[in-house]
Amino acid sequence: MNIPLIPLPQKIKYINGESVINQNAGYNFSLNPDIPESGYNLIISNNTVLIEYGDEQGRFYAQKTLDQIKAINGGKCSNLEIKDWPLMKHRGFMIDCARHFFTVEELKVLIDFAAGIKLNVFHWHLTDDQGWRIPIKSHPLLCEIGSKRKTSNFGSFDEKSEYCYCYTEKEIKDIIDYCKERFIEVIPEIDMPGHTSSILAAYPNLGCRDEKYEVKTKEGIFETVLCLGNPDTKPFIQDILDEICDLFPGKYIHIGGDETPRTRWKECPKCREKIKEYNTDDIEKLQSFFMQEIAEYLKEKGKTAIAWNESLKGDILKPGQIIIQHWLDSKKTGFDFANKGGTIINSDFYHYYLDYPYGMTPVKKTYNYRPLSKIKNPDSLLGIEANLWTEYIQDFSGICQKLFPRICAAAETAWTAPANKNYKDFVARHEELRCYFESKGISIIPLNQWQMPPIQRLADILKFFKGSISSFVFPDKNN
Ligand SMILES: [Zn+2]
Repeated sequence: MNIPLIPLPQKIKYINGESVINQNAGYNFSLNPDIPESGYNLIISNNTVLIEYGDEQGRFYAQKTLDQIKAINGGKCSNLEIKDWPLMKHRGFMIDCARHFFTVEELKVLIDFAAGIKLNVFHWHLTDDQGWRIPIKSHPLLCEIGSKRKTSNFGSFDEKSEYCYCYTEKEIKDIIDYCKERFIEVIPEIDMPGHTSSILAAYPNLGCRDEKYEVKTKEGIFETVLCLGNPDTKPFIQDILDEICDLFPGKYIHIGGDETPRTRWKECPKCREKIKEYNTDDIEKLQSFFMQEIAEYLKEKGKTAIAWNESLKGDILKPGQIIIQHWLDSKKTGFDFANKGGTIINSDFYHYYLDYPYGMTPVKKTYNYRPLSKIKNPDSLLGIEANLWTEYIQDFSGICQKLFPRICAAAETAWTAPANKNYKDFVARHEELRCYFESKGISIIPLNQWQMPPIQRLADILKFFKGSISSFVFPDKNN
């Protein structure tokens, strides 16, 4: 009988006979430098487990595979030999804790689950128009003012009371340590120069107009972006990044760069003056020059910047300067960047934006997506990320509803060779593991919602967009 494992290992060979893997089984661990990075060999025979690993991360993943084996049939299984290693280096998931806040305990449940399916990156979206969630000592108003919004009106969610949350430094360190123990790198995201209403609410001098800014209370794309002509803006961002670099030990810092309207820059004398410094009067390019300077600043500090694909607008950023995260890109500039020798992370909107309804993004669609399909050189793809934005997700059960099982589908794409993947087989394995997965403190939507009939899919999509249609059509109305 085949053993259900997610993600599917690269090679499994079943051998005659059975073993029982429980506390009485024998365990042997040994280091084998010939095993690929993060890989392991696992042999089960005669009620004994033999694990060979190339590094500590490989040893950890062998243990995670063993946990799944032990969870099924009381550990009774066919004798076998597994040879396993990850397909991709970057196997991530992103949680937006700015639109809605999630506690350290809730995040730990997700992180633990993610480690169990061999993900190794937690991209932590900490700042946005609707809230600033990380304390910055040099600019305390970011937390004091930027973390509070008066009400919350996202689509059909309508909450009249004040919404006010910020992690403490201790909590952030706790998450970093928790991830480290599970071989997960935390990538903090400080979004700029757009999605910055929470910065401007606290420090209005950094906006293009002399006006009172507010932390936004609803979803959308807002014109209230940082003034890049203001000489105070860059040092302010550098102060923030200095503290972020000290706090987060990983090598990547995400600097956002998505959805930045140019409306204010076009009318701002300081911004119009600034663009001339770059020997152009094309204000469209202002963002890319800024991102380039911030990326260089991070490089000097030994970090690598990641930014969303809109940062490529104007063709300023070059391969080697920054890593681009592709999400929605009608001009395919992210893939062009990869094909010119740049490095990208693929978070394709139509497949890996897991906050969207199952009617729009069924599990099979996520599972069968081929993230390399538009990339010539596989080495240009650092990996993939499944993203969960939380405009319409306000609590942990909402996270579960959208994240599971699609995160498992993405995890298998990140780990398993494409030739070995099969959706039907994935579904069967998942359902055998469902109880085990749910014992981790999460809930998973029933199988009949994974892949609905067309009419039901349409209804699901309409239901999702009904509450939010006005914000899509009039993004900046009344703001
Ligand atoms: Zn300006």
